[in-house]
Amino acid sequence: MQPSTYPLIDPDQALALVLQQVVVLGVEELPLAACPNRVLAQDLIAEQDLPAFPSSAVDGYALRAADSGRRLPLAGESAAGRPLAVTLAPGSAARILTGGLLPEGADTVIMLEEVRAGADWVEVPAGLQPGANYHRRAADLAAGTRVLSRGDVLGSAELGLAAALNRPSLPVHRRPQVALMSTGDELVQVGGRLEPGQIIDSNRWALLAALAEAGAEVSLLPAAPDNPAQLRKLVVEALSEHDVLVTSGGVSVGSHDLVKPLLESLGKVHIGRVKLKPGKPFTFATLSQGRVAFGLPGFPVSSLVTFEVFVRPALRRMQGFRELQRPRLPVRLDFDAKPAAGRTEYHRVSLHRQGDELIGQTTGSQSSSRLLSLVGAHALVRIPPGDEPVRRGGQVEALILKLPAG
Ligand code: AMP
Ligand code: MG
Repeated sequence: MQPSTYPLIDPDQALALVLQQVVVLGVEELPLAACPNRVLAQDLIAEQDLPAFPSSAVDGYALRAADSGRRLPLAGESAAGRPLAVTLAPGSAARILTGGLLPEGADTVIMLEEVRAGADWVEVPAGLQPGANYHRRAADLAAGTRVLSRGDVLGSAELGLAAALNRPSLPVHRRPQVALMSTGDELVQVGGRLEPGQIIDSNRWALLAALAEAGAEVSLLPAAPDNPAQLRKLVVEALSEHDVLVTSGGVSVGSHDLVKPLLESLGKVHIGRVKLKPGKPFTFATLSQGRVAFGLPGFPVSSLVTFEVFVRPALRRMQGFRELQRPRLPVRLDFDAKPAAGRTEYHRVSLHRQGDELIGQTTGSQSSSRLLSLVGAHALVRIPPGDEPVRRGGQVEALILKLPAG
């Protein structure tokens, strides 16, 4: 085996390098139905007031405050969507329901519970103030207000607001089109029959889920054999229709590891090795027309950890997200962690709370083939390289994948 000629890059530097190279994708106008969790590409300016008319906050009676303390004849009813057609004459009142338009002439609303009323009259108490119990026009927001900003993630409140402002569609950043491919002669697709020495292509499904969570649109390519010509053909065909290529396997230095030379021939390999455990052979290349390629290691945990550390932030940048990274929080270790020589280790832990601290417990063997070390993991804690172990009780920084309940 040849020693790799790629310099070993610090993981933080490697991430910075990746993020420098990826660009925010273009904009598409999408109907609201397709907008949840997308990133808004332009500020949204309200073109109308909200509420667009003065509307009752309660069920009751609309009147002029000047008519307080009197028995008033009823001029009719203003219900939500069914306004009273006439102006309220002085000395009269109208029944009004929540959401009903405050009739022209009225300046206050009194709640049903606070009056005596018959079929065609209402007796209102003295001392009513104008402006009570209804929402003024533009009380929530006035036309011309910037209500959402470029880069806002479209969640429930944002979509509701856009809809309330009568916007049937919104400009959002495109999602990256990702071609996902496993490589290796040993791979069999799930459900197939394994001959001796073969394994199931599990990375395909693990990475598909990771890509979906990161907002990518994924095309599953056939798994590539360890054959340079076949690999090249599959990759070249796929690239024309995708922004990103993600491969797993074939990036270490064995004679069957073909991804790095292929990417060298198609573009520029910026990263070929990182000081990271697991995930040392992580590879990143830029290709023609702004495309990028991530060559992830084959071992299942290595591929997912390098996805988390490098690919996910890059995909989020492409979509215009402001927050690229998972939250980083200090975690106190409930075990002794032995550092890896010269490499930052992302040790998988489960978390629980103790007071206002997060306590991390190892998920067990950290073998890069052991997916169980990631199942149920709440965080990846960063064990810095060095000779000194981080002792139980020591605090380290963690990428939080999910917070524990409670
Ligand atoms: P490689 O990086 O190609 O040398 O692969 C390293 C190891 O990762 C292989 O020996 C396999 O055990 C495993 N591996 C590679 N590709 C996959 C895959 N698609 N699914 C599951 N395991 C894989
Ligand atoms: Mg391989």
